[in-house]
Amino acid sequence: MCAAFSPEEDTLFEKTGAAVFRRLRKTRNPAELLAAIRGAHKEFERAYATAPETARASVACRAGCDACCHVPVGVQAHEVLIAAQHVQTYFSPEALEALIVRAEAHRAAFAGRTSVQRLELRTPCVLLKDGNCSIYDARPEACRSHHSHDAQACRTNLESGREDLDVYIPGVRGRMFAVMLAIDQAAVEAGFDGRAYDFGSALHEALTDSLCAVRWMQRKAAFSESCREAGNDGDDEESGVMHAEGYFQ
Ligand code: SF4
Repeated sequence: MCAAFSPEEDTLFEKTGAAVFRRLRKTRNPAELLAAIRGAHKEFERAYATAPETARASVACRAGCDACCHVPVGVQAHEVLIAAQHVQTYFSPEALEALIVRAEAHRAAFAGRTSVQRLELRTPCVLLKDGNCSIYDARPEACRSHHSHDAQACRTNLESGREDLDVYIPGVRGRMFAVMLAIDQAAVEAGFDGRAYDFGSALHEALTDSLCAVRWMQRKAAFSESCREAGNDGDDEESGVMHAEGYFQ
């Protein structure tokens, strides 16, 4: 599928995507749609567990290390709705209210900025709490996919406001990326929203407008334009949009 994938990663992409696509096409119950994608997120753990041992041994990520939670997170609509559902289920009314306030401030800070400007802000994710993810089981796919071989390099990147140091682990990253792309592509091929959103901005909308989930289930754009992931140099309508390519049909 992707020229940069190894044959094994390609297989992972095809198998994961086909399974997600089948489940999304089979279910008639709207509530089961998000559950199908939530279930597919377990594939990240399986893909990680079968990565080469030497690659896994070089992972430096530890609980409480949160440098990677200070960069903009780009997501598809289903990831936002899964996170919102988790928050609405497990957060207290006070914690939910406080999160909405943080997400609103995040959205205002990101409005009208390019992706580079957003990165330079280095704002903490609205779901970061005491150095940990407060929705760990429902975190977005980019968060599940990220592994670093050098925690100090992550901190240096954070402090400099640039991504100069490469922290990726080849034997892990390709597998995670294959799973992420497969889930997103399968959702798009099943007719769901293929636009890329800024996680914090779209989460604010999801938590304050219950129609976002309805629009997604109706296979419409779930969130407003103001929640879109920013391009580098303007508002290209097609920037960050995934299209159905017929991979899994
Ligand atoms: S969702 Fe969780 S893991 Fe992802 S950036 Fe936010 S705090 Fe970090």
